[in-house]
Amino acid sequence: MLTYFNLRDDSGKLHPYINSRAAPDFLAALLEINQAIPGIAFSRAYSARAEQEVLYAGRFRNSNPVAVPGTSRHESGFAVDVSGIVVRTANGGYARDRNGNFIPTKLGNILIPIFAKHGFEWGARFKDPPHFDADPTRYGYKNRAEAIAAASSYYANCIEGK
Ligand SMILES: [Zn+2]
Repeated sequence: MLTYFNLRDDSGKLHPYINSRAAPDFLAALLEINQAIPGIAFSRAYSARAEQEVLYAGRFRNSNPVAVPGTSRHESGFAVDVSGIVVRTANGGYARDRNGNFIPTKLGNILIPIFAKHGFEWGARFKDPPHFDADPTRYGYKNRAEAIAAASSYYANCIEGK
């Protein structure tokens, strides 16, 4: 199942769904974030396979890594992206400190620990600064593939209706 969240969308094409098994943890994180900094917006949450294919086709123009369609954490409903988590360079890349690490903004310094506390790890671990995701195996799925299959079946049958 996917649970709908009434989220502010700064992409114009947000599908604001979270896998229902992680929805209580996501809600707890969201409420805590909104206490700390009101009005957080999301650029991505759930992605259907067709959307992932469009993103993948444009992957060389994307400053963030794009998963092969059928394997994205967004297709499982366990991931969200938020813009403005790290400092950017003048040419639009990501700034790094002297150790090569991303430099969180004020927003990043608020979100990263709150999401982590509720089970959503920061995507910097695979060079994807806007990204946060929870591990489907902590919510009873055997692996990510099983979570993707469950989410896409629910999306096709109950949301998209085809
Ligand atoms: Zn992402």
